[in-house]
Amino acid sequence: MLIINLNFMPKVDKEKCISCGTCVAMCGDCFIMGDDGKAECSCGDDCKCDCNIDDIISSCPVGAILK
Ligand code: SF4
Repeated sequence: MLIINLNFMPKVDKEKCISCGTCVAMCGDCFIMGDDGKAECSCGDDCKCDCNIDDIISSCPVGAILK
């Protein structure tokens, strides 16, 4: 059986991230603050989260979250 996983893992451009915490506040399942103080995506291929990733991407003040 062929299983096609349409999930994707957002990526944070750490060079752009200003550590505002908005993405973590909007979905703590998909984003965490890394040891470097910058956000990073914490979800993997098995992420079942139903957050609106497009809303989160557009809420990042510096456009650091890439799809
Ligand atoms: S919303 Fe953008 S700038 Fe703010 S912590 Fe997340 S990635 Fe960084």
